Amino acid sequence: MTLKDKVAEALRGVPDPAVGGAGRDVLSSGRVAGIVVKEDGAVGLVLSVDGLARAEAERLQAAIEVAVNNVAGPKAARIILTADRGAVPAGARPEASTVPGIRKLLAVASGKGGVGKSTVAVNLAVALARQGLAVGLLDADIYGPSVPTLLGIEGRAQLENSRLQPAEAHGVKALSMGMMTDPKKAIVWRGPMASSALVQMVEQCDWGVLDVLVIDLPPGTGDIQLTLAQKLKPDGAVIVSTPQDLALIDARRAVAMFGEVGVKVLGLIENMSGYACPACGNVSDPFGSGGAEAEAASIGAPFLGRVPLDIGIRTDSDAGRPGQGRAGEVFAPIAVRVAEVLGL
Ligand code: ADP
Repeated sequence: MTLKDKVAEALRGVPDPAVGGAGRDVLSSGRVAGIVVKEDGAVGLVLSVDGLARAEAERLQAAIEVAVNNVAGPKAARIILTADRGAVPAGARPEASTVPGIRKLLAVASGKGGVGKSTVAVNLAVALARQGLAVGLLDADIYGPSVPTLLGIEGRAQLENSRLQPAEAHGVKALSMGMMTDPKKAIVWRGPMASSALVQMVEQCDWGVLDVLVIDLPPGTGDIQLTLAQKLKPDGAVIVSTPQDLALIDARRAVAMFGEVGVKVLGLIENMSGYACPACGNVSDPFGSGGAEAEAASIGAPFLGRVPLDIGIRTDSDAGRPGQGRAGEVFAPIAVRVAEVLGL
């Protein structure tokens, strides 16, 4: 069987999502045409996005990328989008994302460590998955990978057909440097090596089709963060801060860093905002409150929500049980806002 035949066969397994296209695949409905296999092994094809909403078009493009790449190799698919009405296909992605098969890349960042960035990234990923989205979580916090603990994942990442398999927990597909190395050994890679290894890890991972990949970036605004933002090209970034002035100054640096590399800041989340005493119910503000909201207003970014300092959030994090109790309540509306600003 030629590669072109194999591609055609793979595409016959991708259903056409258009109303009325029920039961038809993208080849027999004519949605995909003009398949060509180039000398370098790249596979070109034309995808018509007529009659599809933006989200449907993006999801279909991702599904086609995965189907083609599965038979032709990573990054083989070159998809040209067309639409009858107007030259620019209505709202579809103008070019494939850095990682084929993934509609949107969302970075979660903070100006410094200890503000709860990983806790927010994990709970946000779980809350997005509860909205029915296909969600992945990449732990890019190379030097302090905490996602395996937060999601309760044990063991190493497996290889299948020479591709890394993400672990699946709480409805989220996850990959972390913590699943690649011995947890007791320190990671001694230097910055540039660590960021290339990480980007390679993401690209070689078998994510399947994802609506969104949440990237838990390392804390701070140094070279590694900058390189990762440049290489992974996230569609947007969410910045986590506590309400303290000092943390907010660092958050401002994070906003500036994303500005430098042309990544849109989608908004700020205020963590550890207000403490409800479990015994008396009295709410106090150990770090103040409202600082991140004021900061968001001053930089013209949306304020995405507030997460209280809550003992349950900490104990559930340590036990690998995200999305429970208070965390489940507060992250649901935050995830709705994030999905909206990301255009999911
Ligand atoms: P970062 O990724 O910014 O370094 P972590 O997410 O690892 O921070 O959080 C640091 C510590 O704070 C962890 O022990 C975590 O359980 C705790 N924590 C984070 N957010 C909250 C919260 N809203 N309430 C209670 N504890 C929290």
